[in-house]
Amino acid sequence: MNIVSENIDYSLHTHSVGFDGHDSVDDMVKAARAKGIKTLGFSNHFIVHPYMKKSPMYNYAKNLGYENIYSDNVDKTIEMFLKHYQEVRDVRQKNPDMDILCGMEMDLFPYSRWSDMAAYAVRILKPDYIIGAVHFLDRGPQGVLNVHDIEFAPGAESRQLLREYYQNVELLTGYNWYSLPFDLNFYAHFNLPRKVGLYFPEMERYIIKSLALNGVPVELNTALMTSAKYGLGNSDAKTVLQDIAKNGANVVVSDDAHSAKNIGAGRTAVLNAAEGAGITNICTKSADLSRFIHLKSH
Ligand SMILES: [Zn+2]
Ligand SMILES: [Zn+2]
Repeated sequence: MNIVSENIDYSLHTHSVGFDGHDSVDDMVKAARAKGIKTLGFSNHFIVHPYMKKSPMYNYAKNLGYENIYSDNVDKTIEMFLKHYQEVRDVRQKNPDMDILCGMEMDLFPYSRWSDMAAYAVRILKPDYIIGAVHFLDRGPQGVLNVHDIEFAPGAESRQLLREYYQNVELLTGYNWYSLPFDLNFYAHFNLPRKVGLYFPEMERYIIKSLALNGVPVELNTALMTSAKYGLGNSDAKTVLQDIAKNGANVVVSDDAHSAKNIGAGRTAVLNAAEGAGITNICTKSADLSRFIHLKSH
């Protein structure tokens, strides 16, 4: 099968305005429709950590006006999502020929009350699906570090933080995935640090193995993989993709679109790389999505 020739007709990893996206739900739907997308899911950030406001990037986000996605108060975050989901449902009603879903990209944390907090939010919000993600390294009362903080730490320290980041991901996507009282449908950007040029292929391969062993579908994130620093053509990137193939992980393709124009972008390069690495368990059609990621129908 030539997956390159297939037209992927779904997009589940998107961000809209009010969170850290640039375009409205309505404009995202219009753009998706124009590109032949049949299933469009909104997966804005669900990020709650008790020391979020002590984190270095909090003030940075504040300057850019999207600090509301970095929360230390679950009820405020729930309120924000309830409003957003209502908007998505209104747009869904106006577009009955498309499948428009209320999802979220949920940050997984190792702090002790995290899973109770997340379960509480999921009970209230009832999202159609949840993308698990780790954007941060938890430093307890000092808050969290993001990949940029890791990038700018001095050399040896940066390497150690990167290792800790991946160890964290392994923990959170392994045992923790199945101890949660709700479903996580797939895992976002397993090698997020490549966004800022931080490569650790051994650890990336370790995460792939962990995801595959635990039956967690892997995302190929087109925004990340086609970014300037990613190095899609590097031989180590190929080896990691070959590992996805070897381990037989289920694969979904995501745009991680933060604007309407990025829906459906970058897919050809990523699909070529996936095909070159021998990945075959890759979802290309809306009709197959529920089989790949156990998507609940709304
Ligand atoms: Zn993300
Ligand atoms: Zn995202």
